[in-house]
Amino acid sequence: MRERGILAVVSGFSGAGKGTLMKALMDRYDNYALSISVTTRQPREGEKDGREYFFITEEQFDEMVAQDRLIEYARYVHHSYGTPKDYVMRQLEEGKDVILEIEIQGALKVKERFPETLLAFVTPPSAEELKRRLVNRGTETEEVIEARMRRACEEAEQMDRYDYLLINDQLDACVEELHRLIQAQHGRMNLHRDFAERMKRELKEISGK
Ligand code: 5GP
Repeated sequence: MRERGILAVVSGFSGAGKGTLMKALMDRYDNYALSISVTTRQPREGEKDGREYFFITEEQFDEMVAQDRLIEYARYVHHSYGTPKDYVMRQLEEGKDVILEIEIQGALKVKERFPETLLAFVTPPSAEELKRRLVNRGTETEEVIEARMRRACEEAEQMDRYDYLLINDQLDACVEELHRLIQAQHGRMNLHRDFAERMKRELKEISGK
């Protein structure tokens, strides 16, 4: 049987370059599955339903919550976002390493529910660079940019609850670092309890204990 996959959460300030980072990781390596969230916000230009998000109504969102079909969900700057449970569980069982690109409240809920989850926080090298990236993206109004900068201030307070920090200065280096972190988790002792038990048994047998 294939070893169960690793669940990894990647969070970071809006504008930290998480989307680009995820895309580069998926393009470069085969064994990752990126969870697609549901959201009640409107698609941005160029976004496609079922690719970046499943775009749903508030009513549909509430129904998913009521039916316990989301691993976690949160409000973020006027809208709701959530992680569908079925897909994530299935991929993990099939041995894929699953990545959730979600914000901080959701990340902490996932960690509570699945304590072995790897939490990585992505940030640009400076606050100035963050603002520059948000403005250059050109998809948001000034008001939304200001709201996202304020949200970044709040999120920064919780950054140190993550297991790992990724500074997204050079995209390539950041992709490799994230890949390395996730792959290193495969060696964790708590994922190999069966092996450890078998080894203990065999050693006792061999040494006649
Ligand atoms: P955006 O509107 O820029 O696509 O996303 C806004 C924020 O919501 C980002 O920080 C993104 O990581 C987060 N987000 C996306 N999907 C989910 C989700 O399923 N759950 C939670 N908790 N946050 C999400």
